[in-house]
Amino acid sequence: MTRVFSGVKPTGHLTLGNYLGAIRRWVDVDQRQSDALFCVVDLHALTVDHDPARVRRLSRQAATLLLAAGLDPELCTVFVQSHVDEHARLSYVMECVATDGEMRRMVQYKEKAARERERGGSVRLSLLTYPVLMAADILAYGTDEVPVGDDQTQHVELTRDLAVRFNQRYGHTFVVPRATRPAVAARVMNLQEPTSKMGKSDDAAPGIVYLLDEPEVVRKKVMRAVTDSAAEVVYDREARPGVANLLEILAACGGGNPEDLSGVYESYGTLKKDTAEAVVELLRPVQERHKELCADPAYVEGVLRDGAEKAREMAKPMVDSAYRAIGL
Ligand code: ADP
Repeated sequence: MTRVFSGVKPTGHLTLGNYLGAIRRWVDVDQRQSDALFCVVDLHALTVDHDPARVRRLSRQAATLLLAAGLDPELCTVFVQSHVDEHARLSYVMECVATDGEMRRMVQYKEKAARERERGGSVRLSLLTYPVLMAADILAYGTDEVPVGDDQTQHVELTRDLAVRFNQRYGHTFVVPRATRPAVAARVMNLQEPTSKMGKSDDAAPGIVYLLDEPEVVRKKVMRAVTDSAAEVVYDREARPGVANLLEILAACGGGNPEDLSGVYESYGTLKKDTAEAVVELLRPVQERHKELCADPAYVEGVLRDGAEKAREMAKPMVDSAYRAIGL
């Protein structure tokens, strides 16, 4: 059976981008068709300035939301990265396979490091080595497929390179994984700046729809989305990114195709209205289930404990054999 691994970072509240780009596919396809593990990657949340209590709270919230979105512990393994020591153990070994130059070429590192420096902060070494830990996350489980949004494909490519290099140097140890992406909405854009991705950031950001936003907040954010001054609704990602983003979100919510949908709408107003309602309806059951799960923290706790135990059992033999292969 295909082994699937993917994760979310608890660096902020989960967004519509996380849901459409990754989580929905984990729920609808991956957990049903594969032997899948989904992880709240809390170690990755320490790569930028962080508040310990907030990371702990957001990790729990992310895990609860993954279950609310429909991940079923009977079908897949849900756990928190730091509960399984094998990730950090393997990460060190992979640091001995990766190069400094490779790390510095990662687009996400360059962007995030520049942002930290602009703010006058220093760049944590872990921000540079983040993709190595991500490679360890994936390789520890003999993963075949990594379902991610477009922003993560470069990191999965690096993981492939490291796995191949390790296997060539030290003997066949790792499965070489491949990234899989959703058909639509692989890159949901910020509603206020449609040329940058909708990523977790400042909680009050008006261009980001959070999975726990109230319906009125969702409507307001979508209705205020930046478009352009053209009169017709046309799907063109390059020239008309704001409208293209709305069409992709609407298509992803309803299972349609953005190009076809552009022919249905004559005004931006109705496109926005329908997109807002589609998002509200998409999020409604997730929010309802989230409320129920919040009333039962012991259940979530139990799922994460069992998940970590299962994950540990899967990862330990692989990490042990990597240690042996590299000479430890
Ligand atoms: P971020 O911190 O940027 O929200 P994560 O690193 O936690 O994202 O990513 C979790 C998953 O969500 C990844 O598979 C990532 O590719 C996907 N993802 C994140 N943002 C978007 C987006 N705007 N559009 C599509 N997929 C996204």
